[in-house]
Amino acid sequence: MTPPPPASPAHGANSPAARDIAHVLHPYTDQKAHREKGPLIITGGKGVRVTDEAGREYIETVAGLWCASLGFENERLVRAATEQMRKLPFYHAFTGRSHMPMIELAEMLIERAPVPMSKVFFANSGSEANDSALKMIWYVNNARGRPQKKKVIARKKGYHGVTIASASLTGLPANHKLFDLPIAGILHTETPHFYHEGRPGESEEDFATRLAEELDAMIVAEGPETVAAFFAEPVMGAGGVIVPPATYFEKIQAVLRKHDVLLVADEVICGFGRTGNYWGSQTMGMRPDILTCAKALSSSFLPISAVMVNERVFEALAEGSHQIGTWGHGFTYSGHPVSAAVAVETLKIYDEQDLVAHAAEVGALMQRRLRERLNDHPLVGEVRGVGLVAAVELVEDKAARRNYDAGRKVAARLVALGEENGLILRALPGDSIAFSPPLVISPAEVEEMVEKFGRAVDALSAQLR
Ligand code: PLP
Repeated sequence: MTPPPPASPAHGANSPAARDIAHVLHPYTDQKAHREKGPLIITGGKGVRVTDEAGREYIETVAGLWCASLGFENERLVRAATEQMRKLPFYHAFTGRSHMPMIELAEMLIERAPVPMSKVFFANSGSEANDSALKMIWYVNNARGRPQKKKVIARKKGYHGVTIASASLTGLPANHKLFDLPIAGILHTETPHFYHEGRPGESEEDFATRLAEELDAMIVAEGPETVAAFFAEPVMGAGGVIVPPATYFEKIQAVLRKHDVLLVADEVICGFGRTGNYWGSQTMGMRPDILTCAKALSSSFLPISAVMVNERVFEALAEGSHQIGTWGHGFTYSGHPVSAAVAVETLKIYDEQDLVAHAAEVGALMQRRLRERLNDHPLVGEVRGVGLVAAVELVEDKAARRNYDAGRKVAARLVALGEENGLILRALPGDSIAFSPPLVISPAEVEEMVEKFGRAVDALSAQLR
C-alpha cells in the first residue's frame, strides 16, 4: 500500500493537493516551488471552460496546451472511442499490419494536406513526430548515398518538443540547460521577431531579407553538402507566438531550394484551423516536404501525432528500407486504432461544422479586441498573432521595448490574477501571455475572455505602481 503523503503546512493532510505534492513529478514545473504552491486540480470541463475541485470555473484561454480544439466535452468523440474499443482495442502497424481507422485517417490527412503528400507515419506526440521526421531525413540521405548531408537548422525560440532530438531542435534555453543539449549537428538561426530583432530603420521586409541572408550564410559556412533540413513552425507557439514578417518564408524557401535543403513544417499547434486556414503552412506560404502534426488532430481526447512526407522523401525511404530489409522505426502505438478513430471523427466534425472558417472569424475578433483593449496599455509592449492564436507581451519600458527583470515574475503574477478573474492563462518566455482557446469559442466568450484579461492586466498594473 502507498504510504500516506506527508502533511504540508499549506495543504491539508491527505487532501488531493497534499497527495499530488507527495507523489507527482510535474512536467514544466519548479519542483520546489510546487511543494508550497501546490497544484490546480481540474475536475471537469464543458465547452471552453474547466472547473477546479473547489467548483470554480475558468475559461481555458490556451485550450489546455494549445490542443483541446473542440473544448472539454464531446459526445461524438466519446462514442468514436468506445465503439472502436469494442471493435478492436489495439492493433499495430509493424511489418505491414494494418486496420481501418489508421487507413481512413491517413487518407483524410493526405486529402487535406496543404501540398501534395504521399504517405503518413503515425506516432503519439508532437515530440515523437519531430523525432521521427529527423530520423527519416537522416535515413533518406544515407539511402541516397550522401551520408554527410545530416545537419539540421531550426530557429531560436522555436519549439519542437522534449525528446533528445526534438528538444535539440527546440531553441529555448530551458530545454537545453542542465540536459547537455542540443546534440551535435543541430543549429539554430535567428527568430523572425521583428518587434525585438528588427533594427532601427529596417522595414519588416528588409528584416525578412536579412534573416534569409543569414540563413544562406550559415548554410554556406557549414557547407551545403552537410545541411539536410530546416525545421519551422509556421507561427512559433511556445517561444512567444511569433508571426514571421511578410515575405519571410518565401525568402527562406528560396535559400532552402538553392541548397537542396528539405523544409519540415511543424504544424503541431498551427494545424487544423488555428491560424485561420486549415494549415499554418497555407497562412504563411510554406510548401513543406515533411509536415508534422498532433494536438488538434484528435482534439487531444487521445494522444496521436502524424508525419506526412512527400513522394520524393518516401521514395528514398522506400529504397533504403528495401536495401536494409526494414525501416527500423515505429512505436507500439503508431496509429493506435482508438486514437485514430477519435482523430477521424475529429476531422469529420471540423468539416461538418466548418470550424476552420469559424476559427478565422472568431480569431479576427480576438485579434481586434485584444488590440483595442491592450495596445495602448502602459504595461503592454506588443499584441501579436494571427487567427485564433495570439500573445500579449508585458514590458517595463514601452519605448525601449524592454521587459521586466525576470526576478519580478510579472507574467506569473498575471497568471495568478487571471485565475482570480476566472481565466487559466499561460505565460511564455519573455513575459508574454498566450491565447489559443478552443476553436469552438463563441464571439461572446471571446469578449468575456478579453474583458477578464484586461481586468487582470489593470490589476497587475496597480500592483506594480
Ligand atoms: N511542436 C510544437 C510546435 C509544439 O507546440 C509542441 C508542444 O507544445 C511539440 C512540438 C511537442 O509536442 P508534445 O508535447 O506532444 O510532444
